[in-house]
Amino acid sequence: MAFYARNPGYMDRVYKNRVVKKPGIWRDKHRRERRIAIGLLGERCLVCGATNPNWLHIDYIPTTNGKPYRHPRHLKYIKEHISDFRLLCANHHYELTLTGTIAGTTITQSGRYS
Ligand SMILES: [Zn+2]
Repeated sequence: MAFYARNPGYMDRVYKNRVVKKPGIWRDKHRRERRIAIGLLGERCLVCGATNPNWLHIDYIPTTNGKPYRHPRHLKYIKEHISDFRLLCANHHYELTLTGTIAGTTITQSGRYS
């Protein structure tokens, strides 16, 4: 029998204790890994060159439209599938999501709205 099956709730206690010892640990981990991912993807919007990291979205090029599951979004997955991702600023990402294209570029995607 697996450890987690023999010790139900064990990992819940470990995670809770970790947060008590280090408040913000998951937020900090997420922000650190997001910065690394943005660095790997070129640190700027592919279309307009915006560099403010708070405006940048990590776009999953194949999209998950019509697929039953979302793809993993953690740093390891991004590193292992780097060509499936690109950086877009919030405006260009939204334009792509809403219209299926970004005006003045060849970037397109089929989606829920297009
Ligand atoms: Zn942009």
